[in-house]
Amino acid sequence: MNNQNLAKIFTTFTHICEIRGDKNDFFRVRSYQKVVQILENLDKDIAEFLDENKEKFTQNIPGIGKESEKKIIEYINTGKVTELEEMKKTIPDGLLDMLEIKNLGPKKVKKFWTELDVTNIEKLKQAILDGKIEKLSGMGQKSTQKILEGIEILNLYNQRKPLVEIYFDIQEILKEVQNHPLAIKADIAGSFRRHKETVGDIDLLVACKQENREIFIQDYLKMDFLEKIENQGDTKVTAYLKLGLQIDLRLVEEDQFGAAMQYFTGNQTHNINLRTRAKQMGMKINEYGLFSLKDNQVIASQKEEDIYKALDLDFVPPYIRGGTDEISLAEKSKLPKVIEIKDIKGDCHMHSNYSDGKNTIQEMAQKAKELNYEYIVITDHSQSLKIANGLTPERLFEKAKETQKLNSENLGIHIFHGSEVDILKDGSLDYKDQDLENLDFVVASIHSKFDESCEERYLKVIENPYVNVIGHMTTQEYGSRKPLEINYDKIFEKAAKYNVAIEINCSSRRNDIPSDLIPLALKHGCKFFINTDSHSIQQLLNMQIGVNLLKAARVKKEIL
Ligand SMILES: [Zn+2]
Ligand SMILES: [Zn+2]
Repeated sequence: MNNQNLAKIFTTFTHICEIRGDKNDFFRVRSYQKVVQILENLDKDIAEFLDENKEKFTQNIPGIGKESEKKIIEYINTGKVTELEEMKKTIPDGLLDMLEIKNLGPKKVKKFWTELDVTNIEKLKQAILDGKIEKLSGMGQKSTQKILEGIEILNLYNQRKPLVEIYFDIQEILKEVQNHPLAIKADIAGSFRRHKETVGDIDLLVACKQENREIFIQDYLKMDFLEKIENQGDTKVTAYLKLGLQIDLRLVEEDQFGAAMQYFTGNQTHNINLRTRAKQMGMKINEYGLFSLKDNQVIASQKEEDIYKALDLDFVPPYIRGGTDEISLAEKSKLPKVIEIKDIKGDCHMHSNYSDGKNTIQEMAQKAKELNYEYIVITDHSQSLKIANGLTPERLFEKAKETQKLNSENLGIHIFHGSEVDILKDGSLDYKDQDLENLDFVVASIHSKFDESCEERYLKVIENPYVNVIGHMTTQEYGSRKPLEINYDKIFEKAAKYNVAIEINCSSRRNDIPSDLIPLALKHGCKFFINTDSHSIQQLLNMQIGVNLLKAARVKKEIL
């Protein structure tokens, strides 16, 4: 995580420089921007470079100057950069928050600050509503409206984090805690464990001996994923993660770990239903265990499974503890058999370096083989998407030839020749029929003109016999684009009729279609394809998160 965090830090440096706009800052901006670029493209953690050879640290990574090197070393050793803390004090602190708003850069922030004394998002919103912003030179009604939309989106997503965005980071954090010698057991409860699409905070439970608690908490407070400590007690610490979420640590007894996991996983309605059932059976349940009402004897507490068993229930997996019918299903041994990662035999939406992917077709295939897939489909972008290096029919042909050649080499996995073909503004596809004919698989997606016209375009493209699946249908992107407001009922109905599948895109910026649309698609009898839309080999691992979300939506493997 060092590279990412440091890239963020250097970006903040450039932002402060740009907002201050001193002449002396000009050159720093250029060199910091370069450092950000280098950090983002490194293929291993920068701390490893430092470990390998302290003396030659910067020589090993050309482009990083002495000043930046000092900051990087300070960060790796202490988790912060003093100069940044100092610099932050030179401007009102709300200004940096304003930069989180989409379409708003440091120059405009500086303008609003110096000309209207706007120093935070609240004041900015007021200034827009008062009509002050659009009167500034270089601003207009349209650009002002865009900022207002940006604020709305920020409010929508800033509170909770999408599971797809934080999943692997949280796993890493958990591993670090589990590796602590005084942690007998550690796990994450709450909505994260229930695979909710978005997560509001992280509930971390650790089993730790009474006499070790103080030391454990001291060590925990020093762990480098924490940003700010909010509250600290003997068994509980509330803090904020660097990745922007609250984390609540609770220390529990080892023999009560299962009960605590059950209790803090929820959801609330599920726990209430469970408590009611326990009561009817002459028991009571709380975070310490399941007890007999008669003599207060503990019946189960160490393992979650034992609690459900003692209540005459099949074990209810966390992801279906939604407080609906899961308890009555568990009572009758009728819990749904949902999809598992092992059911996934392939991934049919990914990009190679033919378009905007980072890796070659062969590298993608090798990684997919490690994941035990039987096939993949390489779906590079089509010609109109110039920004993503979309393929002309000629290059599409070249790609087909390379795919054929690779398949003849017996890689142990089959590569299909596909394309993510743009749905154009009039609802037609971005290749002629003669080119589409040679493709094994077509994902049809919208990458432009995100408005109400999309509904008609989808309805038209579903009729196209070459289309296998509609990609990222709502077009939402976390933090920047809201889902399309169109008639999904109508689209799903037609898709089912024409046997066009719906994509579950589990790339970390999309997660599309969102789970709340899944029941509607199921109702119409739609089939799904779960895809990662990977642009690099690492992103292929996102499949796990997508499967988790599908499990929570009770999706069975048969409908894939
Ligand atoms: Zn796409
Ligand atoms: Zn794609």
